Amino acid sequence: MAAEDDGARPGIAAPAAGTATRAAGTAIPDAVPTGTATLAARAGTTSGSGIATEQRVLDLVTGAEVRDLAVELVRAVGENPPGGEGPMAQVLAAACRDRGLEVVLTEVAPDRPNVVARTPGGTGPSLLLLAHTDVVPVGEGWSVPPFAGQVVDGRLVGRGAADTKGNLAAAVVAMAALVRAGVRLTGPVELAAVVDEEETGLGVQAYLADHAAPLAGCVVAEPTDLRTVAAARGDSYVRIHVTGRAAHAGSPADGVNAVAGAARVVTALGRWHGELAAAAHPLVGPATVNVGEIHGGTGTSTVPADCVVAVDRRLLPGESGADALRELAARLDALDLAGAGMGVRAEVVMEMPGFETPVDAPLVRTAAAAVRDAGGPDLPVTGWSAACDGGYVARATGTDVVVLGAGSVTGQAHRPDESVALADLLTAARAYALCALRTLG
Ligand SMILES: [Zn+2]
Repeated sequence: MAAEDDGARPGIAAPAAGTATRAAGTAIPDAVPTGTATLAARAGTTSGSGIATEQRVLDLVTGAEVRDLAVELVRAVGENPPGGEGPMAQVLAAACRDRGLEVVLTEVAPDRPNVVARTPGGTGPSLLLLAHTDVVPVGEGWSVPPFAGQVVDGRLVGRGAADTKGNLAAAVVAMAALVRAGVRLTGPVELAAVVDEEETGLGVQAYLADHAAPLAGCVVAEPTDLRTVAAARGDSYVRIHVTGRAAHAGSPADGVNAVAGAARVVTALGRWHGELAAAAHPLVGPATVNVGEIHGGTGTSTVPADCVVAVDRRLLPGESGADALRELAARLDALDLAGAGMGVRAEVVMEMPGFETPVDAPLVRTAAAAVRDAGGPDLPVTGWSAACDGGYVARATGTDVVVLGAGSVTGQAHRPDESVALADLLTAARAYALCALRTLG
């Protein structure tokens, strides 16, 4: 999901070298990022043998493998709506199996399977890497074919390149490196690549419903510009239905105008938004109210008996859709539409919880250090005004959650010519590997 994070970050200078051309499909002109991450000079808390192991794993994470898999995943489409993740899930599952991961596909809806892949071995709690297989529809304005997986000036361009197939590829390559290095972890690294993140979160809810195993933490692989995100807003959709009484427009007093009632509701929602702005969360900003749709009436010559107002109400961490609905109900009561002969009811039709992990929690510190040690930027821990599936994990399991990945949620996600720097994907892959080593080491 997109939102209005500030998104600014300094670029990282990773040299691009080598050329590669795929035999089939679109040529990939160049750009295998080969930025190196040398740990010895950086890590202050890892033992000597730990550094050697980490370096061995990092060296097995290559820009070429991340690039090739990211290209393959972009080509596998998976637009949602309508929810066609099936072929994309099959491509991902095959890529995971080829790399020695244990893979289970679970149908959430017809031809919409979640893909769960695990590193073998380890009986302790698992580190969950959470991503999604769907992408938002292509939309207008592209200058390149959106599912060709082209690489231009060191950037993979295509729908989902940043949100979040590039990061999904990075997660798979990180797990493959752990397997190839033969490291013994206390528990498995589990990748859950779920369907329907861009719409109603069916995939993550189905995943959580049948996964009771304890978690050591959850890293959500979404575009954060390589920042470690420790808190994110949630989201809820609320439908408000105002009812009046139909009459001939020539005698409006014979009826009760539901659109006029809805107008009062919309004005009250604007006031609510203004009041919420005064209570901003330090990391994620304020909750918000936006009226996105309004439908009312049946014809110009009729007093409308019905009007529906569709509202997006962003949630602060810890706030539920039910909390927001209670607050809304009090505001609707204050309008006294019943006194004007109208009915009004409101319901939450979609809810995606936010989350907040303390900034000094081990997972947060580990993730931020991992980015740095992987050759990425040293940026402060931040919050995210976007919503993502991580909130469901935090709510259902109580585990610590961070969001971390390459690409910009504001500059690239959901836009035409969406792209991500391959060098940043390589950094993300190495950071995921380090997170796993340091969380499950
Ligand atoms: Zn996403």
